[in-house]
Amino acid sequence: MNPLGKTKESVLSQAENALAAAPAMPDLPEGALTIGADALTAFIAAIFRAAGCDAPEAGRIAASLVSANLTGHDSHGVVRVPRYVHVLGLGQVRAGQTLTIVSETPAHALVDGNFGFGQTIAPLAVDLGIAKAKNTGIAVIGLRNAGHVGRIGEWAERAAEAGLISIHFANVFNGELVAPFGGVDRRFSTNPFSVGVPLTPDPPLLLDFATSVVAEGKVLVASNGGKSVPDDAMIEPDGRFSSDPRTIYGPIEGTHERNPGAGLGALRAFGGHKGSGLAFMCEILAGCLTAGGTSGPALRGPGRRIANGMLSIYIAPGGFASETFAQAARDYAAYVKASRPALPVGEVLLPGEPERRTRAERLKNGVPLQARTWEAILATARSLGVPAPPFPLSP
Ligand code: NAD
Repeated sequence: MNPLGKTKESVLSQAENALAAAPAMPDLPEGALTIGADALTAFIAAIFRAAGCDAPEAGRIAASLVSANLTGHDSHGVVRVPRYVHVLGLGQVRAGQTLTIVSETPAHALVDGNFGFGQTIAPLAVDLGIAKAKNTGIAVIGLRNAGHVGRIGEWAERAAEAGLISIHFANVFNGELVAPFGGVDRRFSTNPFSVGVPLTPDPPLLLDFATSVVAEGKVLVASNGGKSVPDDAMIEPDGRFSSDPRTIYGPIEGTHERNPGAGLGALRAFGGHKGSGLAFMCEILAGCLTAGGTSGPALRGPGRRIANGMLSIYIAPGGFASETFAQAARDYAAYVKASRPALPVGEVLLPGEPERRTRAERLKNGVPLQARTWEAILATARSLGVPAPPFPLSP
């Protein structure tokens, strides 16, 4: 009998029946399902509740993961649920944590996330930066030892909603996965970089990307039968480029948890020496300056703990060209968009525009998930005694 009063067998058969009853969805790649965002969020929150998080934290994790799916960044969405539950079980991430202030002045703080969930720790760090920048005009927050903080753009959006420009450099302690320009051995993590610019009442400009050709989660999605990654996304130990998930995961069987430490190859830094240089600076700022540690050399074995570091700069536009800034930025964005399309059906998009469009579409039509991703989430739910929701879930 599990905590929800169901026998293991009844939960199992409920999940299996649900999967067997799932119809093929017409507009999606073979094997994909669509699930309404609210129902998906409630189900994921139930999983984290059963895994030991209190209700507010479970809700934050679920909302954050689903919001990544809504923006089209499935790599940072609910595909992560099995991995999050796994590292919670290992004690590598902890439920119910808060920030510790290590050092502080009116315009800066170094904060420690105590290996709490990124979805709990990151908003606390961002809100501290917002409060300081509102007082002083500019603030810098160094965050270390945070659980996976997910889509960095979510934190730039949070600052933009408060009227602040923000710039974020992130790294992953112990998470080396990316070869530097000119090398084949892993030295960086996928080190994301993000800039958010509020243009209220218009939506913010939002640049947010991994400094690898693709984020690791995109290879994870591809390994589950999702969209494949570019031919030059990874590199084998002999220097050959690869798009095969086995380059970083090693042999792949079914829905088992993917281990990016198991492959012999590496992801590649984007943009040649320039992207590789930006990834390097993410390590220096988010890893060395915060003392959270760099991506490598990564510890191996059971004691290994992976954590995000992030150095964030918050700027109140009022301290600069307060009268003209937003309009100048709006005018310039319109000018950039007016560049003639390179392809007859193409158009120039602004940073943040693709995510906004995808969010609008997925809020309406539901979140598409690869069947294998959904099966892995159901397996995690079953292991915690959480019954599968009635399926298919309507948007
Ligand atoms: P990506 O390659 O999809 O690039 C996204 C950025 O490019 C966005 O700013 C988007 O608005 C812009 N963009 C996309 N298409 C565009 C177009 N046609 N024209 C103009 N701009 C366009 O993103 P990614 O590198 O795969 O990263 C995905 C997510 O992974 C990000 O949210 C990142 O923060 C996250 N990430 C997190 C970690 C972590 O450790 N927490 C690590 C790596 C990546």
